[in-house]
Amino acid sequence: MIAITDHGPSMIGSACKIHFAVGKRAPKDHKGMKILWGCEANILNAKGDIDLDEQLIKKLDFILVGIHKKTPFKNLGKTKNTKALINCFKKYPIHAFAHPTTFYFEYDLKKVCQAACDNNILLELNSASLNRLDTNHPKENLERLKTMANIAKKNNKKLIVNSDAHFLNEIGDDKLLKKYMKLLNITKKDIINNYPKELDKFIEEKNKLN
Ligand SMILES: [Zn+2]
Repeated sequence: MIAITDHGPSMIGSACKIHFAVGKRAPKDHKGMKILWGCEANILNAKGDIDLDEQLIKKLDFILVGIHKKTPFKNLGKTKNTKALINCFKKYPIHAFAHPTTFYFEYDLKKVCQAACDNNILLELNSASLNRLDTNHPKENLERLKTMANIAKKNNKKLIVNSDAHFLNEIGDDKLLKKYMKLLNITKKDIINNYPKELDKFIEEKNKLN
């Protein structure tokens, strides 16, 4: 399975709305590999609105959300940023919360991860986050990833691994996963990608809410 999830249209330089709308024409299968047409949507404001309208949401197979730079989102401070995420989780049929631990904007990590679990939204274990961690990037740290993994476990939820590929050579790249699974105290059983039928069912159920 592969999910093609360009950044939402409000991000500078991202794909336009037509790119997302035209996805209905994209093949659903390539030589036995399932193809999902999706979006990594951007949260726009304190109300948790995202940069996809209802019609576009209906056309997509898989939606992640996150708060990103180079979008209309203005930093509202920790409390309001936290609320913006939680409001968004309550409002939309989102499949996954993108790179929850990456420090683009300050928010209460525990509260937002808990809210994601409460709203049946998968927490993403992002390969780019692991790469950043491995190179001591200031926007990532192990404790935050541990916090996220713990909250998922406590809630009996699996994480979703995503290579967050921005280039062809990054697709499916999970070379750091093994190393960090140990440090995060998780096993293969804690990762939904290892259970394709369960993941399929999860996506199907979520899309019924559209
Ligand atoms: Zn992102």
